[in-house]
Amino acid sequence: MRFEILPGTVTLVGGGPGDPGLITVAGLEAIRQADVLLHDRLGPVELIAEAPEGAEVVNVGKIPHGHFTPQEEINRLLVEHARAGRRVVRLKGGDNYVFGRGGEEWQHCAAAGIPVRVVPGVTSAVSVPAVAGIPVTHRSLAQGFCVVSGHVAPSDPRSTVDWAALAASGLTLVILMGVKQLGVIAEALVAGGLPPSTPAAVVEDGTTPGQRVIRGTLADVADRTAASDVRPPAIVVVGDVAGLDLSVGAHPH
Ligand code: SAH
Repeated sequence: MRFEILPGTVTLVGGGPGDPGLITVAGLEAIRQADVLLHDRLGPVELIAEAPEGAEVVNVGKIPHGHFTPQEEINRLLVEHARAGRRVVRLKGGDNYVFGRGGEEWQHCAAAGIPVRVVPGVTSAVSVPAVAGIPVTHRSLAQGFCVVSGHVAPSDPRSTVDWAALAASGLTLVILMGVKQLGVIAEALVAGGLPPSTPAAVVEDGTTPGQRVIRGTLADVADRTAASDVRPPAIVVVGDVAGLDLSVGAHPH
């Protein structure tokens, strides 16, 4: 065992984007030692079966009426179980610190005097485009990438993302939680100066057997996505790299 966890602690584990093979060795070892495993609906749900027999497995993504468990309640559960002397593992999809509220969970546990560790995960922001044949950087096409949340429209007062600045940045844009607002986001990027012909791709359920890739340009990607009835989780990639398809020539697996 490379990664040992102690009773009375909390371990934040990034589970990777969905394919259970994409968790880290340390992450899998942590799950295999859990007395309590708190998970939600995103990420590699098959890995829940790796928890030891007798472990308490809690789905904090949903409560019986279909709502999310409030973050305060999750924080409270982490501390309560750790105080009872258990090895608590908090499994999230992707990486806990990329739109995963892992930072808040860490702060809450630390403030309560509970020892915490983090096992970084393979974030969907990079891995989902990769598996769909899109490298987020490419020597001749993009010298960087930017990961942003698209859950609120650019015109929404709650939005703190400067879409015009992103349009001018020359970076690949990786947009999480942006499918619903894709039309207005594409408009904002074009208004910010990106050509409507800029390649854009949407990847639904990346790395899973249900993966779908929709390709287009800023001008038509929102319509194509709506026509294909794409549902979350899905990632949008905007930039010249989205015009590549490195899945051509992949060996079978
Ligand atoms: N912590 C996660 C992100 C959580 S936010 C990570 O690091 O990957 C949730 C968003 O992540 C989804 O709305 C979607 O945009 C993206 N996402 C997560 N898993 C995905 C997958 N398998 N395929 C496509 N998008 C995914």
